Amino acid sequence: MAILGGGVSGLAFADAAGVPAVIFEKEDRVGGLCRSFESHGLYHDIGPHIVFSGAQERTDFMRALTPMTRHKRSNQILHRNRFVRYPFENQLSALPDSERDWCLDTFLNNPHRELPAENMLSFFLGVFGEGITRTYLEPYNRKIWKLDPVQMDIQMVERIPRPPDEHIVRSAAGEDIEGYTHQLHFWYPTDGGIESMVRGLAARGKEYVDVRTQAPVERVEIGSSGEFTVISGGSRAHFPSLVNTIPLHELVPRIRPQAPPDVIEALHRLRYNSIHVTVLNVDEDGLGPHFAIMIPSPNVSFHRVSKLDFLGPAYSIAGTSTLLAETTFRPDETTVSIPKEVSSQVIQSLEHLGLVPADSVNFCETRTFPYAYVVYDLHHRRNTDRVLTWLDSIGILSLGRFGRFEYINSDAAIATARAAGAAFAGNHGPTATPT
Ligand SMILES: Cc1cc2nc3c(=O)[nH]c(=O)nc-3n(C[C@H](O)[C@H](O)[C@H](O)COP(=O)(O)OP(=O)(O)OC[C@H]3O[C@@H](n4cnc5c(N)ncnc54)[C@H](O)[C@@H]3O)c2cc1C
Repeated sequence: MAILGGGVSGLAFADAAGVPAVIFEKEDRVGGLCRSFESHGLYHDIGPHIVFSGAQERTDFMRALTPMTRHKRSNQILHRNRFVRYPFENQLSALPDSERDWCLDTFLNNPHRELPAENMLSFFLGVFGEGITRTYLEPYNRKIWKLDPVQMDIQMVERIPRPPDEHIVRSAAGEDIEGYTHQLHFWYPTDGGIESMVRGLAARGKEYVDVRTQAPVERVEIGSSGEFTVISGGSRAHFPSLVNTIPLHELVPRIRPQAPPDVIEALHRLRYNSIHVTVLNVDEDGLGPHFAIMIPSPNVSFHRVSKLDFLGPAYSIAGTSTLLAETTFRPDETTVSIPKEVSSQVIQSLEHLGLVPADSVNFCETRTFPYAYVVYDLHHRRNTDRVLTWLDSIGILSLGRFGRFEYINSDAAIATARAAGAAFAGNHGPTATPT
């Protein structure tokens, strides 16, 4: 069979299916968004990829792929030059008094509470009230998604529970409250960045998987009996079955016969954001002992800066700190900056925020990735379903973050692909039984 894309979804599917398969991957190595990059001897990810899951068996599977270290979350939100512990609603006492009182009062006496959540903004207002929403949730989400939360649907947030009144009252009074406890502890590879987990995954399917790197899929032809021809590097290979994990925007235009016009239209309406990832090493910083700092201010280009030293000695150079800033942008923006400009912007903003003196920067590099975040606008579900239904009708199972066009982390990408691979093995007879 053919598997398009060698990210964790393609690798996990191949492992669980246990049948002879060819993986076509356009980059020089597998891993996709879970690749790590080396700068001056230190590894960093496309935004730090922490390992956690609401489902214990998913965490266990990932942890078994490479040695990992357990960490306790220490994240902050930078609000008006003050650190507020993440999640924001659990440390209202860190806010200026008037804002703290506004957040508490509008949480307890919330006229939005009983109103239906029609979009992300009305969901936040109903669950958290006007103060917490306007002070943090709305500006931070607007910044990551590059879209007004009024224009986003609630698929991504609908499972967030309303915090108990008592927690918010205690948080305003200055008591220590922990929220989102399923991600309070997380795991991270002890060395080599998240890509070392990918290497563990790739090693599992070794005997029966032919991984072809630098093999971009140029075209997929569907034969009259439903068989597939994959054209890559000018050569043609034939397969009875095909699973996709490359972004829908990359796959659909390459399929022949072409998709019907309404599928193409739905595809063009699917929105996603790209990302600049800037790594910098500095002699001094004001991030304290924390891992990640969220920055909702619209005047700062990046939304999060993380201190990689937090992840252990393999991610640290003695006497310095290594930081990673993430800046999302819309792929259709006309003002997309070149990496050098992004690096200078990040340094300037860090200095302006009082987090890093500009003359303490030892090195700074920016890398850009076109597919980072699926954007759940109000038509996301309908348009995604249209494209997936068509792929299904021509016998293509599409998986993965941009292959299903869902905001999923690597735990869900791996688990879903493994389940699909096991189902495929059940129908086609595995040559190996994955454990
Ligand atoms: C900024 C950021 C932070 C994240 N943080 C976390 C985190 O903390 N924890 C976590 O678990 N997850 C995190 N994730 C999510 C995680 O990276 C993804 O869920 C996961 O890597 C998706 O894997 P995938 O295989 O589905 O897709 P991808 O990794 O996108 O794989 C698709 C593959 O297809 C290849 N491809 C594309 N076009 C072609 C073509 N024409 N021919 C051949 N190959 C092609 C690509 O090169 C790629 O290798 C984060 C993601 C981002 C962007």
